[in-house]
Amino acid sequence: MAERLNKCPLCKSGLFLNYTEIIDHAVSKESFMICKCQNCSLLFTNPRPKEEKIGPYYEFPEYYSHEKNNKTFTQIIYNLVRDYTVSKKIKLITKLKGKGKILDYGCGTGEFLQAAKSKGWKIKGVEPTAKARNQANTILENKVFENIDQIDEKKKYDIISLFHVLEHIHSLRKTIKKILSHLKSDGYIIIAVPNPESFDAQRYGKDWAGWDVPRHLYHFNQIALKNFEQLFDLELVEVNPMLFDSYYVSLLSEGYINPSQTLISKYLKAVKNGWKSNKSAKDQIGQYSSNLFIFRKK
Ligand SMILES: [Zn+2]
Repeated sequence: MAERLNKCPLCKSGLFLNYTEIIDHAVSKESFMICKCQNCSLLFTNPRPKEEKIGPYYEFPEYYSHEKNNKTFTQIIYNLVRDYTVSKKIKLITKLKGKGKILDYGCGTGEFLQAAKSKGWKIKGVEPTAKARNQANTILENKVFENIDQIDEKKKYDIISLFHVLEHIHSLRKTIKKILSHLKSDGYIIIAVPNPESFDAQRYGKDWAGWDVPRHLYHFNQIALKNFEQLFDLELVEVNPMLFDSYYVSLLSEGYINPSQTLISKYLKAVKNGWKSNKSAKDQIGQYSSNLFIFRKK
C-alpha cells in the first residue's frame, strides 16, 4: 500500500502542487508523482511506498549483482572513484575538526569510517540494510548499528555525516531531530544530496537518474536545504560540490534515455555531460549535480 502525504514532510505545510511524474527506471518501471511544497520548495515523492513496503524497490535486477561479482569496467571505475571520494571526505572532516568522534549515518559497507578510524577518529555507524551492515561490522569491530536508537543517548559527536542518505529516510523531521540530539554544540552535520536543479537534471529531464523514485523520497533543492536553518536551529556554514556525481548520474541517465546505445557511447556522453554539468555549476553557485551542505548548531 502506498502512503499519501497531506502535509509537506519537511515544513508541514499543506500547500503543495503536483510537479512532475517520474518512472522508476532502475527496478519497478512504475511511475511516481513528485510534489513541490509551495512554502519551503521541497520536492517530494507522493504518494510513496510505506516504509515497511519499500524493500522490493531496492531489489535491483539480477544483472546488477552479476556486474558486482565480475570485475567489469564499470565496477573498476566505481571502486577507483569511491577510493578518491573517501579521501576527499577525510580531508573535509580533518579540515573541520582535526580529530574527534564521528557518526556516519547510512554508512553502507563502511569504507569511509574505516579510513576515518585509520586517521585516529573514533567512529560509529548506522546502517539499516543487514547485508551492508554485517560487511561493515567485519572491518569495524561491531561499531555499526541498525538504527540510531541503539546508540547511547548521552553519546555526542563532533561530526555527523549523511552521504546520500537523507533522501531515503521516511520519518524525515523526527530522524533529523534525533540525529541532532547526538551532535555536540560545536559540532558539524554534513548532508550530501543530489540536486534536482543541476545542469544534468535539466539535461536529462524525466530520465535524470538522480530522481531515483521511489527510493528517493525527497529531492532537495538549495532553498529546501537552506530552510533547515530555521526548521532545526542550524547555521549553514558551507556548500561544497561532489564533483564525480555528475559523471556517475550522467552515465546512469544515458542508460535510461537511450538503452540501446553502446557502452562506449554511454561513457563518452557521460563524460561530456558530467564535465558540462560541473562547468555550468561553477558559474551558478551550488548548482552541482550533488551538493554537500555543512551545518552547525546555532
Ligand atoms: Zn514544505
